[in-house]
Amino acid sequence: MKTAVFSTKPYDRQFLQAACVPPDVHELTFFEPRLTRETAPLAAGFRAVCAFVNDVLDAATIGQLAERGVRLIALRCAGFNNVDLQAAQRHGLCVVRVPAYSPHAVAEHTVGLILALNRKLHKAYARVREGNFSLDGLLGWDLHGQTAGVVGTGRIGCVVARILHGFGLRVLAHDLVPAQELRELGVHYVPLAELLRESDIVTLHCPLVPETHHLINAEAVRQMKPGVMLINTSRGPLIDTQAVIQGLKSGQIGCLGLDVYEEEADLFFEDLSNQVIQDDVFTRLLTFPNVLITAHQAFFTRNALEAIARQTMRNLSCFERGEPFDPQVEVTPQRLRH
Ligand code: NAD
Repeated sequence: MKTAVFSTKPYDRQFLQAACVPPDVHELTFFEPRLTRETAPLAAGFRAVCAFVNDVLDAATIGQLAERGVRLIALRCAGFNNVDLQAAQRHGLCVVRVPAYSPHAVAEHTVGLILALNRKLHKAYARVREGNFSLDGLLGWDLHGQTAGVVGTGRIGCVVARILHGFGLRVLAHDLVPAQELRELGVHYVPLAELLRESDIVTLHCPLVPETHHLINAEAVRQMKPGVMLINTSRGPLIDTQAVIQGLKSGQIGCLGLDVYEEEADLFFEDLSNQVIQDDVFTRLLTFPNVLITAHQAFFTRNALEAIARQTMRNLSCFERGEPFDPQVEVTPQRLRH
């Protein structure tokens, strides 16, 4: 099937082409720009578009795609918060995603941020390279015996909880649907306010939906333990960045690890090292010594890219053959309500 792949990086091309083998052979055309209302005309004559996390699939983009004959939006990611599902339904476009590729990739990166922030590995690395072997300012604490709060215990949150449990942390969790496997491990499900009050580390793994937008706002920051470590590898808008900056300034938040950021679309995945960054909120975050930011790389393992490419090719084939999708794969407006 003729498919326009947007936001293409060399690694996307490499893994998608490698997965484009019988029985899943498709005609892929790679475009570097993000998919937006301005670039949507590039999809003219294609039956499917393949999009990523920062492509803007709002009503205007979807209208343009539909007008040009596109019938399928194949997301090569799990989150679908960047798609106006109502608009897709109105225009008769089917939206599919890759619901699970490697929860381990994201979970391990999450734990990497926790370890690095606690023992200040990012600072230690730079220091030693400069010939500074002093330990002042690098003091951490044993994770063993601390309390971690996992918000959202789906595929990724479950793996995070298991790893942290293995480190000897007491793990609290909050989810609308508790996971039995975690309960059996001894994880306690508690209301969000209690999790925030009790946890030394709070890590976010719920999806971005209207109810979770700015889940961590000024009130939530106030509820947290003074000096808390806050980690977000889920979606940027779960956190009200201004509220968190105030929390960092007051010391209420002891350290912050981010793999995602509210306004990341104009920054992440590009080399902007020769440009002046215009986002003053982001640059303020960069000034804190106790903030560690990675640019949406938690998913970025060989295993995950292989799995994403394989599932994306399967999704294209399934659509082409008119076969029904797995309910986890197809996303509809009804899904938003679950
Ligand atoms: P999942 O659907 O398996 O799990 C999400 C869990 O959140 C579910 O158990 C759900 O019940 C729970 N939840 C929903 N609303 C909630 C609420 N209001 N409060 C608490 N819990 C709530 O999803 P997953 O595969 O574990 O992925 C989690 C998120 O991670 C995705 O939504 C995506 O945004 C993000 N993600 C990030 C990266 C990255 O590279 N940084 C990669 C993949 C996924």
